[in-house]
Amino acid sequence: MAHKCPDYVKELNDYLDGTLDPTLCREIEAHIGECPNCRIMIDSMRRTVSLCRDGVNEPLPPVLEDKLNATLKARWEKKFGKQA
Ligand SMILES: [Zn+2]
Repeated sequence: MAHKCPDYVKELNDYLDGTLDPTLCREIEAHIGECPNCRIMIDSMRRTVSLCRDGVNEPLPPVLEDKLNATLKARWEKKFGKQA
């Protein structure tokens, strides 16, 4: 039975976390190979995930926080261009 896109979307989080069952993982990768919609979905989720991982949730000393924010901002601008 063939999966439809919505079936995969549920698994994409796990896929990106690397916690997905290897069999399902291969299935998703095969599907992404032939489905532009899911490929775009994965790309944008991956971007979001990596941005979240770059961020730090624990409170930081202000100096460090400034440094981190500057780093993140520079990284963001490098990736996406300067925001108008
Ligand atoms: Zn799809």
